[in-house]
Amino acid sequence: MGWEQVIGQARAVETLRRALEGERVAHAYLFHGPDGVGKRATALALAQALECQQRGPGGTDPCGTCPACHKAERMLHPDIHIYLPQPKDASADDVAARFQRLGENPYAEIDYRRRPTLDDPTKTSTKQAIYNVDRVREITRDLRYRPAEGHVNFALLTDADQMNESSANAFLKGLEEPGEQTVVVLTASRPDRLLPTILSRCQRLRFDVLPPEAIEAALVEREGIEADRAALLARMADGSYTRALTLADSEELARQRARVLAFFRAAFSSASGTLDDLITDLTGLGREGLKGVLHLMLGWVRDLLLARHAGAEAALVNVDQRVAVEGFVTNLPAAQLDAMVSLVEHALDLVERNANQTLVLTVLADALRAAMHGQERRRLFAPLAEPMPV
Ligand SMILES: [Zn+2]
Repeated sequence: MGWEQVIGQARAVETLRRALEGERVAHAYLFHGPDGVGKRATALALAQALECQQRGPGGTDPCGTCPACHKAERMLHPDIHIYLPQPKDASADDVAARFQRLGENPYAEIDYRRRPTLDDPTKTSTKQAIYNVDRVREITRDLRYRPAEGHVNFALLTDADQMNESSANAFLKGLEEPGEQTVVVLTASRPDRLLPTILSRCQRLRFDVLPPEAIEAALVEREGIEADRAALLARMADGSYTRALTLADSEELARQRARVLAFFRAAFSSASGTLDDLITDLTGLGREGLKGVLHLMLGWVRDLLLARHAGAEAALVNVDQRVAVEGFVTNLPAAQLDAMVSLVEHALDLVERNANQTLVLTVLADALRAAMHGQERRRLFAPLAEPMPV
């Protein structure tokens, strides 16, 4: 494990290694960037490096062999505390099972919103998973202890943007008086949701989406996935290694792609009964599930665009569906593909901002149909500010 477990993110890793080298590790960091790109894996590597008993002054890398390194790798180090937003009724066993999975693969999907039931990726839930105020008080109390056996008391709060106002305020209080030997790492995909007063206390490190080549190589080397399939998954994952792992469950990928194609078909033919059923199915996936489908939809529309402009040379996301993609492009010469990309991106943004999902999908289908027939409309509608387009 250690730093080599981190895929890409050279800039963030280099910053942290330099901080270790100069003994200038900050007391609080915010790792921000999209889901599944390695914020958590990087934080775990930092934790291991900080606790390693053989790193020595000025050292940047954990040794990987001392007892502290072994404990860190198995998520058993008493001074490395990891927290995630969880539903009120989450059982201790279930939380422990999630951390065990994290020990096996730091990129594993363990989030309660995207994976409410650990062993069944198809199960969805509408239960809230946040840091409630009692939990935050427990966390900040943990932060005040001296390390039990290591060098620092390390706390990782994943998805720290999932706090409500009172828990954020409680956290802020805790952050004001941390122990001397404390290092806190917050991860967030939406740092704008954090209180400015929390942001100002953290050193910020940005994490970027991963290039498909990096995802592909990791899928082959780490997961033993065969090269062609890895190439396909990597391009569909839209920059997230965790999403690639989820899609690697073949049934899940097939199911999601079927939904995407069905949605385009229903939108095109304006078969309202079919469309209604599909929308019910899609909204039933929950916000994160729906975002997953919309990401795939985006990949599909970008492919149409590529196929139109680059023809047979195009490096498609859906490499195994070249015939279908090319067929679509040939059969719909008037389709406004640029506009379709913008529409799906807009839908993703609206879902991200908690707009009514049924409404978003209904209007998306309508706008996609118009775009497929040659109308160049790029915005769905503006439930947040602007008036409805005529
Ligand atoms: Zn070590």
